[in-house]
Amino acid sequence: MNLVLLGPPGAGKGTQASRLEESYELIHISTGDIFRKAIKEETPLGKEAKGYMDEGRLVPDEVTIGMVRERLAQEDCQNGFVLDGFPRTVKQADALMEILEDLDFKLDGVINIDVSDKELIERLSGRRICKSCGATFHVKFNASQEEGVCDECGGDLYQRDDDTPETIKERLSVYSKQTEPLIDYYKQRNLLKTIDGEQGLDEVFNEIKSALE
Ligand code: ADP
Ligand code: AMP
Repeated sequence: MNLVLLGPPGAGKGTQASRLEESYELIHISTGDIFRKAIKEETPLGKEAKGYMDEGRLVPDEVTIGMVRERLAQEDCQNGFVLDGFPRTVKQADALMEILEDLDFKLDGVINIDVSDKELIERLSGRRICKSCGATFHVKFNASQEEGVCDECGGDLYQRDDDTPETIKERLSVYSKQTEPLIDYYKQRNLLKTIDGEQGLDEVFNEIKSALE
């Protein structure tokens, strides 16, 4: 099964993609995670992406599309994948169709996670990530057992540089201008399933599972 998770920053795409990865044995491809790893490793890709990410803007399409093309061509994607954070523009969505055709893959569905701005701001402001394994927590909604320590691996939790009030505002504005048009894009192609993302983590996951059946 090949899926796209669509939704604004903080909707829960990463959280639900991890669950899909575990339950359906899909490869979880998060473009944000790939960029963050490249920044940490100080690769040319990381150096190019950093400025855009710090400001809450999108990394240019050519860079992002090339990176996803390479990732999807890797052997492990043959048995199914879930894309988290890609596509984010109509140009990226068109490119994805082309890439999938070239690789002889089919897109089975697009899950759109719907959450209001007020809730998104609260989720992004309280998000904490594990430095070692990347697991995602929330100080209030999905707290780790011990403050600042990852339940999965014991690693330290940190707050993302772009989860600050000013950058969150910019990212939500970028989403509504550049990414929200993809809802219609996939609706027109009969691929879209919209989920109420303002429920608890388990409820959202159950709704996604029902939509996939
Ligand atoms: P995205 O990948 O869409 O940016 P995340 O999966 O990182 O979003 O989730 C953003 C924050 O909201 C995280 O701190 C996460 O723990 C929390 N979260 C995710 N889903 C829910 C939910 N259904 N209810 C409350 N908080 C949630
Ligand atoms: P995310 O982890 O999905 O919240 O993404 C964090 C940041 O990475 C975004 O604000 C963008 O700067 C960049 N990014 C991630 N995915 C994309 C994409 N598909 N296109 C452009 N920029 C992206």
